[in-house]
Amino acid sequence: MDNKGILIVVSGFSGSGKGTLMKVLLDAYDNYALSISATTRQPRAGEVEGVHYFYRSNEEFEKMIAKDELIEYARYVNNYYGTPRDYVEEQLNSGKDVILEIEIQGALKVKKKYPETLLLFVTPPDAATLERRLVGRGTETPEVIRSRMLRAAQEADGMDAYDYLIINDDIEACRDEVHRIIQSEHHRCSRNVEFMDQIKAELKANLKGEL
Ligand code: 5GP
Repeated sequence: MDNKGILIVVSGFSGSGKGTLMKVLLDAYDNYALSISATTRQPRAGEVEGVHYFYRSNEEFEKMIAKDELIEYARYVNNYYGTPRDYVEEQLNSGKDVILEIEIQGALKVKKKYPETLLLFVTPPDAATLERRLVGRGTETPEVIRSRMLRAAQEADGMDAYDYLIINDDIEACRDEVHRIIQSEHHRCSRNVEFMDQIKAELKANLKGEL
């Protein structure tokens, strides 16, 4: 099969558990690379520069935009978030499946630029579970929780644009489901043009007695 990595966008409401899902997916399987975004938001307790995000000032972020160093960027709850280009391109070229964990505006921009991107949307089983998870995180003020619930309601309108819906109830089951979906994508005919061309040529040569 063609040895090209797939670009995968994973979105989901803040509190959908997509961060944990990505962690368990990367721990369990080898062929994934997770892109690290740049952001202007402050690090949360326990977050580390270069591991969770590259934390940048507004001015630094706007410089990255001007120099076209980001594949996409968006504003989310008063901060910038964006995907640095170099890492994604390097990893795709080396055959890794690259995952961007980004919100919906960015997802749609990536899909427009790279139509072969696989879009996955992660959601909890219901709205009450989402609110419980946001409150339980204990790191956000009530205002931030409210603005994230509001944002979730808006984002729900965009779910239809995604390729697959991932309902995050049981994390291990969810992890294996995501892995299976991505593996299936590798078998899509449109991703295996080189392989198909080669076997077509071989068959023709075989009929002519050249093989
Ligand atoms: P958080 O502040 O909770 O880490 O992230 C807020 C939202 O920004 C999440 O939905 C997350 O997926 C999204 N996000 C993180 N990095 C990027 C990025 O590089 N680009 C875009 N468009 N969204 C991002």
